[in-house]
Amino acid sequence: MLRPMTHPARAAAEALDHARALDAADSLRSFRDRFVVHDPNLVYLDGNSLGRLPMATRDRLRSVVENEWAGELSGAWDHWVELPGRVGDALARDVLGAAEGEVALADSTTVNFYRLAAAALDARPGRRVIVTDRANFPTDRYVLEGLARARGLAIQWLDPDPIAGPSAEDVAAVLDDDVALVSLSHVNYRSAAITDLAAISERAHAAGALTLWDLSHSAGVVAVDLAGIGADLAVGCTYKYLNAGPGSPAFQYVRHDLQDQLRTPIQGWFGRRDLFSMGQGWEPEAGMGGWLAGTPAIHGLVAIEEGVRLVAAAGLDQIRAKSIALTSFAVELHDHRLAELGCSLGSPRDPEQRGGHVSIRHARARALRGDLAAAGVIADFREPDSLRLGLSPLTTAFEDVWRGIEAIHAILAAG
Ligand SMILES: *Cc1c(COP(=O)(O)O)cnc(C)c1O
Repeated sequence: MLRPMTHPARAAAEALDHARALDAADSLRSFRDRFVVHDPNLVYLDGNSLGRLPMATRDRLRSVVENEWAGELSGAWDHWVELPGRVGDALARDVLGAAEGEVALADSTTVNFYRLAAAALDARPGRRVIVTDRANFPTDRYVLEGLARARGLAIQWLDPDPIAGPSAEDVAAVLDDDVALVSLSHVNYRSAAITDLAAISERAHAAGALTLWDLSHSAGVVAVDLAGIGADLAVGCTYKYLNAGPGSPAFQYVRHDLQDQLRTPIQGWFGRRDLFSMGQGWEPEAGMGGWLAGTPAIHGLVAIEEGVRLVAAAGLDQIRAKSIALTSFAVELHDHRLAELGCSLGSPRDPEQRGGHVSIRHARARALRGDLAAAGVIADFREPDSLRLGLSPLTTAFEDVWRGIEAIHAILAAG
């Protein structure tokens, strides 16, 4: 799209014109106006870590606090108890490609990951191996290591190309009848590589293993088709591309036919049949209700409901299309402006293989993050050398991408 540079300043100016033309043609452009923006000059490229606050969420939270909590007091539980299932159904339908009754919201991603991984291991007694990859998100690795230690199991670590991530062939090479569980992230948190969940599911199932996918970096930006890929179990968080706020509850998906074959290791009262009978002994509530544990976090749940509504209004296909355009523009600018300054791309070049962010590698990436913040550009650093630009499609303009890359250029060019 950009012509080869003649003069650097000219090339940058042309790229800015191009960014503005892309913004003018952006069908999702008006969604930016539905978010609270305190400082219009701040370039926020971290919406994949903490999504911005939607105005509808601010208003809904205000109403929940003032009218429901302050006004209805404990009587509000009559309708609050429906939230984990109701919001789970909306998320299943509009974001995850799952069926009604397959998704519930509770706790953090970490806790849900533990709960579903432990349930999967219980369902494959006698098998002693868990498959995951070294570049997987830390909490997933740590939880699996803890489960392996407690149960005397082994982890089969995949060590794939750090940018491309594990392929179906990498997984197939380690599968045998001793593997109980295969667990990977859909979109890698550092490189943004997309994992081929459908192909891996097929191979894992052929070997008799269960699968557990972490969708934290895909939910709300990359369409997920849990039914289509024959997923068994999945988890993910809601404060990234779903914009539900810090610490909002995470989701857990258990495929219909597995819901009563598997059993939660956390037998809490909110997962018990006939909760308020307060009876002796624990029996699971039917369906996803049996996968809850304790009192649901109401503020977070209503924020997820609003976040999912926004994603549904924009449409995941349009969101993904804009996401690809944003990350492709960032890659193009990287090649024209940053490659000559010692940067290299830490994300897949093929947009079909790339999620919603772009990693730019540089030896000074850690310091760069602070320098950028001082220049009004918020990005993230990931060990060892990646500057991560999160380009949340509902809140990021093409001009933001241009400003972010130009700020990196200016800092690196100044030495
Ligand atoms: C952000 C993220 C999490 C977060 O887990 P929490 O328990 O919510 O802190 C987990 N997994 C992945 C892949 C993530 O990107």
